[in-house]
Amino acid sequence: MIDLHSHSLWSDGELLPSELAYRAEAKGIEILGITDHIDSSNIELVVPRLAQVAEDLNKNLRKLKVIPGAELTHIPPAMIPEIAERARRLGAKIIIVHGETIAETVPVGTNKAGLQSNINILAHPGLISKEEVALAKERGILLEISARVIHGITNGHIAKIAQEIGANLILNTDSHSSNSFIDIPQAKMVAKGCCCDFEPLYKNSRALAERVMYAQ
Ligand SMILES: [Zn+2]
Ligand SMILES: [Zn+2]
Repeated sequence: MIDLHSHSLWSDGELLPSELAYRAEAKGIEILGITDHIDSSNIELVVPRLAQVAEDLNKNLRKLKVIPGAELTHIPPAMIPEIAERARRLGAKIIIVHGETIAETVPVGTNKAGLQSNINILAHPGLISKEEVALAKERGILLEISARVIHGITNGHIAKIAQEIGANLILNTDSHSSNSFIDIPQAKMVAKGCCCDFEPLYKNSRALAERVMYAQ
């Protein structure tokens, strides 16, 4: 399994990045993105530390690769492009925007601002519009199918429009503890639950992971 969206205790996850990584490896995950929540208050604190620990872990873990990232969360939409660039400069290799899930009151305009920024994944984009899905396709930004129960309630809507328009999807767990990691059979069920084949989702995860891991 490749899982490019997870949280450590550098935001609201339960475990240190190292513990999260070793537990992910024990569960058979091949590549893990640790993408803690950031805004302008903690970006400098969190992102360089995730970059450092990922480097250390990648020298020592036997099977798992760790990719440092950031999830831009409840940021005023107008500031999203600038914060995304800052996160990249500080060492985040996967930039996620915390999209307009219907489970929370995310600022209106977050999906659109994220899709206009230099990001990789729009997470749990809720009742995303067709225009926004078309923008995701045009800009090569992956739309997330979430295995996290609270965000997964709109997976069907996201998958349907993405398939109609031809935008690419990615499946992540948004894990905040190691209990939420899933294996391939479970991931296949989540995909099937929104009428998607798992294989293209997995391929999209792998393509993004390899692109950012080997980019200089
Ligand atoms: Zn969280
Ligand atoms: Zn998240």
